[in-house]
Amino acid sequence: MLGMMMQRPLLISDILTYAAEAHGRSEIISVRCEGDLHRQSYRETAARAAQLAHALKAEGVDMGDRIATLAWNGHRHVELYYAVSGIGAVIHTINPRLSPEQLLYIIGHAEDKLLFVDLTFVPLIEAVKDHLPEGLRFVIMTDRAHMPDTSLDVLCYEEMLEAQPKQIDWPEFDENTAAGLCYTSGTTGHPKGALYSHRSTVLHALYVSLIMGAGYPPESKILPVVPQFHVNAWGLPYAAPLMGHSLVMPGPALDGPSLFKLMDSEKVFSAWGVPTVWQGLSAEIKAQGRIPEGFSELVVGGSAAPRAMIEAFEKQGVDVQHAWGMTEMSPIGTHGKMPQWVKDEDFKTQVDRKSQQGRRMFGVDLKIVGEDGTRQPHDGEAAGELFVRGNAIVSGYFNNEEASRAAMDAEGWFGTGDIATIDEHGFLNIQDRAKDLVKSGGEWISSIDLENLAMAHPAIATAAVIAMPHPKWDERPVLVAVAEGEETPSLEELHAHMEGEFAKWQLPDDVIWVEEMPLTATGKISKLTLRKTFEDYVLPELR
Ligand code: ADP
Repeated sequence: MLGMMMQRPLLISDILTYAAEAHGRSEIISVRCEGDLHRQSYRETAARAAQLAHALKAEGVDMGDRIATLAWNGHRHVELYYAVSGIGAVIHTINPRLSPEQLLYIIGHAEDKLLFVDLTFVPLIEAVKDHLPEGLRFVIMTDRAHMPDTSLDVLCYEEMLEAQPKQIDWPEFDENTAAGLCYTSGTTGHPKGALYSHRSTVLHALYVSLIMGAGYPPESKILPVVPQFHVNAWGLPYAAPLMGHSLVMPGPALDGPSLFKLMDSEKVFSAWGVPTVWQGLSAEIKAQGRIPEGFSELVVGGSAAPRAMIEAFEKQGVDVQHAWGMTEMSPIGTHGKMPQWVKDEDFKTQVDRKSQQGRRMFGVDLKIVGEDGTRQPHDGEAAGELFVRGNAIVSGYFNNEEASRAAMDAEGWFGTGDIATIDEHGFLNIQDRAKDLVKSGGEWISSIDLENLAMAHPAIATAAVIAMPHPKWDERPVLVAVAEGEETPSLEELHAHMEGEFAKWQLPDDVIWVEEMPLTATGKISKLTLRKTFEDYVLPELR
């Protein structure tokens, strides 16, 4: 027997309509490329998204057309999210930190029709303009007064909106209609496109709002430092309006002092981003001798949050919540909001827990599969590849059958490529990416664990462990490190610091000091680049 309830499609436009009606005074506060700090309410945002939707229609944009953006976090980028998807087109956010080759590949593969560009990124497009598909048109995201002098044939964002009506009846269509497209950075091979639907996006927003839910004061402000060009700023432009929280958008100003100033003046409650950006903020907090006013919660993910960083923020009264996910998961999978029984533990035990990746979000199923292909128990001991299943997880990649087939197992779960354990309380512990594990004498060494311990040494600012070939042991770990100050301790000193936590055979065979860590387009340490840089490296024992 079926239930007798209405079935309404889950559509992204409903989120903004709801926010405008129920949380009309909450705001989007944006640092803009023009140099100002701009504020507008969700009510105004809805009106401008309506204008943009009319303008897109006037430009001939249809259902299913891909509309690309090269832009920072800001109100215009949010308007694009809602207007493009709202009329049934697909918002394709491009990561401007990709190489020109990847940029061109992605634009070609997605067959974008229009490209919306922030002022900062105009030179990026000018540099590759001769290789761009014919017929691709550009819109500069600014007003007439700030339009750049460019050889590109461009439209002006604010002019497009000007004469358009501020109301719209958003069209109704199948909730499975594609809404957003985001390519993973693709450390090997070409980038692959995750194609989100209205249904998956609305459900993910609901799941994320469950995480925020309890604990956030009404109308509190959230700062997504994680960019809108990388997995939709972890879904915050959808979840925050749903909850009535204001969004504080940092635009291009992502350095520590700029973030501190913005957070302080806006009294940001919760800030979300990858570990590398929080290092900059930490340094500024140290310099100022205080945290920004109102700063209460830090959500950190994208790569493992170093234990030393968690400790430092916690000691200053900031609740650190460690999240894990991927582009293919919209992206949040697990989240480290702690239950009371953990909060009752001593400080060290709490930090131990927070160094893990939290528990699954509702709507995300997790399984661990061993090397022999069997499902492993959730006992905190058995490690294996992590597979995921859920309504906001990809079922394949956009126009890429081969990659789609390789990604899914026979039961329809998606393979993450991460090696993990899950304990009896549901806490996930990511040990490594499968390709980053160090295999020594048939045993695995977790590079994340070694890095955490290395970064707890006061002389080390950042550390990465990579595997180096060894004739007897297959691979041995080598520590690549950036010094905090002048001091560069010897390998023996580092061993003395690490011993006790690790078996002797698990300790790195060498330490290489570098000036700077290479980062990927999404702000993570690029082990691929490190491996390439040290291609000809020979372990001390073999020299
Ligand atoms: P890319 O880095 O290629 O852009 P994603 O952003 O989708 O791709 O990265 C997803 C991967 O990042 C995960 O599979 C995992 O290896 C890693 N990751 C994300 N969050 C964490 C975390 N909290 N701890 C450890 N690894 C993480």
